[in-house]
Amino acid sequence: MSPKKLIGKVEFRENLAGQNHLIRIRFDEKVDFTPGQYVSLKVNGEGLRRSYSVASLPGGNIVDVLVDVSPMGEGSKYILSLKVGDEVEVLGFLGNFTIDLQAIERARNITFLATGTGIAPMRPMIEELLDKKSFKGEVRLVWGVRHETDLYWLKEMDNISRDYDNFKFDIVISQPLEDWPGFRGHLGGLVNGLTQDWSKTLVYLCGSREMIVETEKRLKEKGVPEEQIHYEKYY
Ligand SMILES: Cc1cc2nc3c(=O)[nH]c(=O)nc-3n(C[C@H](O)[C@H](O)[C@H](O)COP(=O)(O)OP(=O)(O)OC[C@H]3O[C@@H](n4cnc5c(N)ncnc54)[C@H](O)[C@@H]3O)c2cc1C
Repeated sequence: MSPKKLIGKVEFRENLAGQNHLIRIRFDEKVDFTPGQYVSLKVNGEGLRRSYSVASLPGGNIVDVLVDVSPMGEGSKYILSLKVGDEVEVLGFLGNFTIDLQAIERARNITFLATGTGIAPMRPMIEELLDKKSFKGEVRLVWGVRHETDLYWLKEMDNISRDYDNFKFDIVISQPLEDWPGFRGHLGGLVNGLTQDWSKTLVYLCGSREMIVETEKRLKEKGVPEEQIHYEKYY
């Protein structure tokens, strides 16, 4: 389906943690997209746009976006200025960072690797995979953040773990406090330590260009075929 201009209203907003804000946009009509896609949001009067992954599931009239406002450019300032009831204009739905339905038939494991708000498209992708597609292999999400205070959606991830034995969730923190009990360092380090049949693993990467370039290199060295690596570069 070709992207179209949609006008919606801010229904809800929440500061999830640190600089990370969730904005829920309600539309008059039902919106149809594939988990993993993004919208292009108009962020000023001159028509400047910023892309944001959809952090919610399709099937209703809403779209959630999850935005890290720390870059503090035009997009971040616009997100911070939004109030409940404000009208917003999006172009949707864009991108091919979606579950490869043919490849999941052959895959033994599906590994999602995210840094920061790169987790946004992954939650609906994972929920769809486990719930609607009933994928029975291992689904693993590894999430890298800088500090403990950047963490959110932990209860939601616990709920998925409770409902699906084949879902594994790990967090890795690059600058944790002394008493952080979990993994420390960068995402790539944790990925190196994972033992799985990489040749039968489908990988989805989302976050900074630097993380994606470095992780993709490691994955190829581990034997993941290029066509099994999918990514969305945020900046
Ligand atoms: C397909 C796609 C989907 C995206 N989805 C999301 C999303 O779901 N959530 C989200 O928060 N962002 C997302 N982004 C990034 C987003 O579009 C903006 O680039 C980001 O919010 C910064 O916009 P800005 O106008 O505030 O800053 P800009 O003025 O555009 O950038 C300021 C500076 O910050 C750097 N920068 C941009 N983003 C980050 C970041 N996250 N951390 C550190 N430095 C950064 C830029 O390289 C630039 O140097 C996505 C980008 C793409 C291409």
